[in-house]
Amino acid sequence: MSGYDTIIIGAGIVGISAALSLKDLEPNLKILVLERGFLPSGASTKNAGFACFGSVSELLEDFRYMGEEQTLNLVAKRYAGLAALRARTGDAEISFKQSGNYEVFKTGDDEIFETCASFIPILNQKIETITGEKNTFNISDANIPKFGFKDVSHLIFNKCEGKLDTGKMMHKLLTQARSKGIDFYFGAEVRKIDEEINKVVIHLQSDMVIEANKVLVATNGFAAQLLPELEVHPARNQVLVTHPYKTMKFSECFHYDRGYFYWREIDGRILIGGGRNLFPEIESTDLMQVNTAIQNHLIEMIKNWISPHEFPGIDMQWSGILGLGSVKYPIIKSVSQNVTVSVRMGGMGVALGTLAGLEGAKNLLGMHQDQATA
Ligand SMILES: Cc1cc2nc3c(=O)[nH]c(=O)nc-3n(C[C@H](O)[C@H](O)[C@H](O)COP(=O)(O)OP(=O)(O)OC[C@H]3O[C@@H](n4cnc5c(N)ncnc54)[C@H](O)[C@@H]3O)c2cc1C
Repeated sequence: MSGYDTIIIGAGIVGISAALSLKDLEPNLKILVLERGFLPSGASTKNAGFACFGSVSELLEDFRYMGEEQTLNLVAKRYAGLAALRARTGDAEISFKQSGNYEVFKTGDDEIFETCASFIPILNQKIETITGEKNTFNISDANIPKFGFKDVSHLIFNKCEGKLDTGKMMHKLLTQARSKGIDFYFGAEVRKIDEEINKVVIHLQSDMVIEANKVLVATNGFAAQLLPELEVHPARNQVLVTHPYKTMKFSECFHYDRGYFYWREIDGRILIGGGRNLFPEIESTDLMQVNTAIQNHLIEMIKNWISPHEFPGIDMQWSGILGLGSVKYPIIKSVSQNVTVSVRMGGMGVALGTLAGLEGAKNLLGMHQDQATA
């Protein structure tokens, strides 16, 4: 045996949160996290840092496809997940700010805006029990001029959302895990998992083998590489960061087109991402590569209408992998006697990840029912 009671595969927000929750629940457990990158190399270090739970157009679509109950359940989980993350790390340590986020509607988007606007009273009423606020969403067109956008007709403000610094969040979680005696092996790629009598055998690269009593798989968009039977599909997202602006006209986060596009200010620069809907087939991949056509589209968005007054050029670009499914609900369940999965964060794992880690940990300890729709 390896001497570890539990091995977690994947050092993203879900894997590290699960390790921390296991330690809270069973302080004597010996826990090892295996991560194939030399740093956490999934979406948790590549995301935009929106502390969000859904824009109106996105939630409207979810109501239609997932139904009201599941959508509101998921919003509640995202909201609770954010609260749990903030309680664990502290707001200052991750630069969390409840700045409120905006959904943007361009000139020509009038039909979708009108549909969203008429949905706001219903949504506000239904969401009040989650946020504790009477008017979570409201139309905020008066703010359009101050942001300097061109060809934008409407804004919907969500006062309960915010932003955080992703790098600081992951650094804090890693530091907390190490301080609690949780071990990490980086550069350790898991190739196969075998459940045997009373132990789980993990096969790594170079024919190395390591064993544990129980295993939690937290590899999100890469989950199907190890467990192809899971209904988790990878989806790539492109991200760009500009050089610093001389005059930055906003400090908030913005969603556009049902959440397919998003941008924010960070350290006096614009971070912009998304656009996988432009090339859905090509972007249904777990290969972290740059898609030049999408990146050019994002640059044109900045130049033409997000910040037409100034363009300092692009400083950095990368891509990251989401874990999606036919529904946005996560899969948190046992896949065999001693192996649990907590995957498929549906593109909002910053919000959902802390709770998904806790629920995965409880499932592993037999304290929590399976939660899965697939
Ligand atoms: C560009 C982008 C922007 C995003 N923006 C936001 C946002 O603003 N707000 C929000 O809430 N969510 C956002 N998300 C989604 C969010 O980042 C993810 O849902 C969340 O990080 C998933 O966390 P995770 O721990 O489940 O997975 P990951 O962070 O992907 O972690 C999985 C880990 O498993 C490792 N791994 C995979 N296979 C193996 C293996 N075989 N052996 C060992 N290790 C393995 C990977 O290297 C990775 O580190 C964004 C995602 C992307 C890609």
